[in-house]
Amino acid sequence: MWGLLLALAAFAPAVGVGVGAPSTSVLGLAPPATTGAPISTPAPRSSPAQPPAEKNNGTSEQHVQFRIIKKKKIVMKKRKKLIRPRPLVTDRPPVTTSPAETLDLPEKQEPGCPPLGLESLRVTDNQLEASSSQSFGLGPHRGRLNIQSGLEDGDLYDGAWCAEEQDAEPWFQVDATHPTRFSGVITQGRNSIWRYDWVTSYKVQFSNDSRTWWGSRNRSSGMDAVFPANSDPETPVLNLLPEPQVARFIRLLPQTWLEGGTSCLRAEILACPVSGGQSDKAGWAGYNLHCECTLPHELNSPPDPNDLFPEAPALGSLDPLDFRHHNYKAMRKLMKQVNEQCPNITRVYSIGKSHQGLKLYVMEMSDQPGEHELGEPEVRYVAGMHGNEALGRELLLLLMQFLCREFLRGDPRVTRLLTETRIHLLPSMNPDGYETAFRRVGRLAQGPPCPFLPGARSLLGLNKPLPWQGSELVGWAEGRWNKQGIDLNHNFADLNTPLWEAEDDGLVPDTVPNHHLPLPAYYTLPNATVSILGAVAEATVGALVSVSRHSSPAPVQVAPETRAVIDWMERIPFVLSANLHGGELVVSYPFDMTRTPWAARELTPTPDDTVFRWLSTVYAGTNRVMQDPDRRPCHNQDFSLHGNVINGADWHTVPGSMNDFSYLHTNCFEVTVELSCDKFPHENELPQEWENNKDALLTYLEQVRMGIAGVVRDKDTELGIADAVIAVDGINHDVTTAWGGDYWRLLTPGDYMVTASAEGYHTVTRNCRVTFEEGPVPCNFRLTKTPKQRLRELLAAGAKVPPDLRRRLERLRGQKD
Ligand SMILES: [Zn+2]
Repeated sequence: MWGLLLALAAFAPAVGVGVGAPSTSVLGLAPPATTGAPISTPAPRSSPAQPPAEKNNGTSEQHVQFRIIKKKKIVMKKRKKLIRPRPLVTDRPPVTTSPAETLDLPEKQEPGCPPLGLESLRVTDNQLEASSSQSFGLGPHRGRLNIQSGLEDGDLYDGAWCAEEQDAEPWFQVDATHPTRFSGVITQGRNSIWRYDWVTSYKVQFSNDSRTWWGSRNRSSGMDAVFPANSDPETPVLNLLPEPQVARFIRLLPQTWLEGGTSCLRAEILACPVSGGQSDKAGWAGYNLHCECTLPHELNSPPDPNDLFPEAPALGSLDPLDFRHHNYKAMRKLMKQVNEQCPNITRVYSIGKSHQGLKLYVMEMSDQPGEHELGEPEVRYVAGMHGNEALGRELLLLLMQFLCREFLRGDPRVTRLLTETRIHLLPSMNPDGYETAFRRVGRLAQGPPCPFLPGARSLLGLNKPLPWQGSELVGWAEGRWNKQGIDLNHNFADLNTPLWEAEDDGLVPDTVPNHHLPLPAYYTLPNATVSILGAVAEATVGALVSVSRHSSPAPVQVAPETRAVIDWMERIPFVLSANLHGGELVVSYPFDMTRTPWAARELTPTPDDTVFRWLSTVYAGTNRVMQDPDRRPCHNQDFSLHGNVINGADWHTVPGSMNDFSYLHTNCFEVTVELSCDKFPHENELPQEWENNKDALLTYLEQVRMGIAGVVRDKDTELGIADAVIAVDGINHDVTTAWGGDYWRLLTPGDYMVTASAEGYHTVTRNCRVTFEEGPVPCNFRLTKTPKQRLRELLAAGAKVPPDLRRRLERLRGQKD
């Protein structure tokens, strides 16, 4: 995901507010004062920040500057009763709240309950209500952890729930739809470029009927607990409840918020299924693999025996795979295990090291691992380029387990895939970034074994931690970059510019090739740098950046991770790839960079647009969530209106992207898949995410069969010709043959005039028809050497020129071959 918000938290020091508030803030923090200081004059809506010169594309100038705001005071809740419009909720009796006091620590740390699903959208919009809202775009349905606002405030997609300014007793409510054990609350402030709003303290109440409420109280005094909340807009702050409460509804009641602002928050609720009875197991499907349990998965979500409540959404998967988040060591171990289980079809290798020295491991899966077989296409999946976008990593680890298992079981689809293709899976292109994000989420690792699964035995033991992982405490951007702070998706050589300049001069393809553009000389230097203009251009779409677009961009280094991937791309004749990201639900295809310089977004198709749109549509059309016509948008754009696919540059320009580089420097066609709204889903959501993506991951790889393939050979020797060029009439982008003379040209159905040419050979053109039948369609070539080439070879071999050839050469003298 493009990170609409480049860590706003990173900018928080500019406003003099502490970043990195303790993530578990139950620890002895003083309660806010309860004196009723009046609300000071609210700050003008967007006064402190300079508005952008233009919202989107633009060839016009854009100056984006830091916003400097004075440190603000905390405003206390107004006690004076104000008239406010009746919220659209059921009438409720007044709640008696006892005076607030210092928060108790939970006596025994509660097990880490998973998130209820505000961030992941498992909680639907109509489960969220509030006392009031400033506007629709700031309604309770926007009060979801990590939700991202659009470029400007005031549209339908603002970055928080915000109560009306006059609302003296604001509240934000979540209906869990059935009795639930609430154990904690995570809050963030408002995501906005133009405003700062966050809640600094709140109370929590519970209800079973949304009429009678009781508060979360400190055990020692019995008084209402006041939870310290946020001190910047982005850092998620967790409060565990002094005592978990079983209820259907939970309410957050902001008590204090930033002076000059309003009561705005984004939240996630931590909740476990209630104890006792069958229903315990619902929602824990993701956990049973931590336990050596013999229960089939479906038993974990039995129907409610009394049929009182709507059934919780099924979260399980029938595949017995390792549904956990894996840090570097665990990932390495898992890959080794898969390799041991399936030694005949797997090979683990490393393509290089990260800045911190972690290896970039690849799992290769094929019937002849370690070997390029003539005619067998090479495909790859790359995940974790942005270290905090963790779902792709886990999906690839699940995919390798799945392929191994199904191959051993003799599944025909998997067997064919592994026999006919050579698959390379790189789960973590940016392991340093991942470790940063993982450390944050792993800090709360603690929890129960499997008491709710009769017959199950915890592998971790009672006192060992049960990972409590999710993006809940990572925020939106932590871990995105590599250790040097480089965004790897802006770090590849920009080959678009030289190509487009040559095209403008009419040099392509006769003088300058339309494929395999070389690395620019500067890029190959050991201390090469690339411009960060790309990063800036992208960031201006949605974040504060201190760089004027007029100023010359500061260079950043070429990261070791980038170099490793480029070497890998050059070593293996990849045909098809997808680059797995997270934080949105959409498939984007090249070009990622706009053709008009400085345009923030602009439709920029490749000559292979039809193929790329097909590839993207295949993934989007087989992903279960993207297929859902009723799904709500993740953040601020509704991609479902366009089939969940988009041209990358038409979304936001990304110079130096891996997709563009792959297309222009190699034969490989690559798209970006944004897998889910939540970048780092909780572990218990992994089975569902696997089910959402399993078919799409397989079907996408099978698209390598689409189009034509063949071998270009020397007519006399029958030897394959390496680096022969395959050109298709009407598509200004050629591909080349691998060292054995084999090639693959992805094409959608149709009739094509295909030309094969190679140095020293007469070119050959033939018609090849691609049908809707599964391919690839064989389209082989036999090339005849030119006389000049024969002569060269003979002379090189020290032989005398035969008389007939000499006569032919004499006739040809003066002509060019
Ligand atoms: Zn990303």
